[in-house]
Amino acid sequence: MSEFSGALQEVYDVVYRRNPGEPEFHQAVEEVFESLAPVVERHPEYVDILTRMCEPERQIIFRVPWTDDSGRVQINRGFRVEFNSALGPYKGGLRFHPSVNLSIVKFLGFEQIFKNSLTGLPIGGGKGGSDFDPKGKSDAEVMRFCQSFMTELYRHIGDKTDVPAGDIGVGGREIGYLFGQYKRIVNRYESGVLTGKGLTWGGSQVRPEATGYGTVFFASDMLGAKGDSFEGKKVLVSGSGNVATYAIEKIHELGGTVIGCSDSSGYVVDEKGIDLDILKEVKQVRRGRLSEYVELRGNGATLGTEGSLWHVPADAALPCATQNELDADDAAALVKNGCKVVAEGANMPTTPNAIKILQGAGVSFGPGKAANAGGVATSALEMQQNASRDSWSFDYTQNRLRDIMSALHDNCLTTADEYDAPGNYIVGANIAGFVQVADAMLALGVI
Ligand code: GLU
Repeated sequence: MSEFSGALQEVYDVVYRRNPGEPEFHQAVEEVFESLAPVVERHPEYVDILTRMCEPERQIIFRVPWTDDSGRVQINRGFRVEFNSALGPYKGGLRFHPSVNLSIVKFLGFEQIFKNSLTGLPIGGGKGGSDFDPKGKSDAEVMRFCQSFMTELYRHIGDKTDVPAGDIGVGGREIGYLFGQYKRIVNRYESGVLTGKGLTWGGSQVRPEATGYGTVFFASDMLGAKGDSFEGKKVLVSGSGNVATYAIEKIHELGGTVIGCSDSSGYVVDEKGIDLDILKEVKQVRRGRLSEYVELRGNGATLGTEGSLWHVPADAALPCATQNELDADDAAALVKNGCKVVAEGANMPTTPNAIKILQGAGVSFGPGKAANAGGVATSALEMQQNASRDSWSFDYTQNRLRDIMSALHDNCLTTADEYDAPGNYIVGANIAGFVQVADAMLALGVI
C-alpha cells in the first residue's frame, strides 16, 4: 500500500478499506493520488471531492443466463459501474473477458472519468462488462448472450444517462446484437444509446480505428515534443485486436515500421513490418492465433520464443493489449535497447514499477488515460452525429480526432509544467483530468 502526504493518505485509507480485495482498483486510485499532492496543497477544498470521486455513483451487478448450442443453460455475471456524471452521461465501454470482476470494472471506470474529462467533450465516466468469454463461442451463442445481457442492462442506459461502447471482447458484432435487443425492448430507434455502431445503422466513420489512431497521434506528438517523429522508427505494438491493428496501420502511414505484435498465445517478430492484410485475415476473419500469421506470411516472420515482445530491440513501444502486461523486467529491457517512447493504447498496461524504471531512465511515457482517449473521444463524436441525425466524412472525423489528441497532448504538457513536473505526462494527465471534474462537482453541490 502506498504512502501519501497528509490528507491524501486519510482519503486513500478509506478507499482501501471500503474496497477490500480489489487490487486493480487500488492500483488505479494510487496512480492518480501519486500526482495529486501539489493540487490538494493549493486547493484544500478538493480533499472532500476526492473522497466522493472514489465512490461510484451507482454499481450494478446482474445475472446473465443464456443457453449454449448444446441446450445447456450457462450463467455469467454482468456489471455496469456508473462512476461519475459531473461532466455528462456516464460513458465507457463493455468488456467481455473471463478475467472481468468488480475490481477490473472499477479500475477501468475510475480511469475513464479522467480520460473522458481530458477529451474536453461532455462525457462522464463508467464501465461495464461480463466474465463471458466470446472466444470459441458460435455467433448464435454470442448473440443469445448479448440479448440476455441487454435484457437487464437496457433499464439503466440511455443517450442522456449512460452510453456504453466496446472494449476487449466487444466489437462491432457484439454492439450490433446489443443495439438490436435494446431497440426491440424499448421500441425506439435511439441511436445515441450505444457507440461503436456499424456505419449503416448510426455508427461513425473512424470509430473502429480511433483508439489505435489516437494513440499513434499522441505518441507522434510525444516524439514531436522531443524534435523527433515516427519516420524510420522500429516500433513494438502488443496485442492484435482492434487497438493494435489500427495503431500498426497509422504507424506505417507515418513512416515507422512495426516489427512485432502479440496475442494471448505469444508474440511474433517480423522485421520487414507486420503485414496488416494477413493480420486482419487471421484475427478478424478467422479469429485465430498468431502462429497462423507466421504460416501465411512465410519467410522472415517468426514466433517469439524467449521472454516477451518487449525484449525485442525497438525505438518505441505501444502496449495495446491489456492491464499489467509490461512489467519491470520488460521496462528494463526496453531501456537497455534504447527505446525512447512508450504510449499506452490499452488501459493500465504498464505496472507501477515498470513506469518508475521508464521514467527514471528518461523514456517519455504516455499514460493510457491520455494516450488512448481517442476511442472514447470519437464515441462522443458519434453521439454528436446521432443527436443531430447527421453523418460526417472520414476525413472530417479524422481531423476532429487529430485536433482533440493534439489539444490533449498539449494540455498534459502545460499542466505538468504548471506543477513543476516538465515532460511528465502522468502528472499532467491526472491533474488536468481531475481538476475539470472536481470543479464541476463543486459547482453541482453535494449530490
Ligand atoms: N473502451 C474504450 C476505452 O477504454 C472506449 C470507450 C467508449 O468509446 O465509450 O476508452
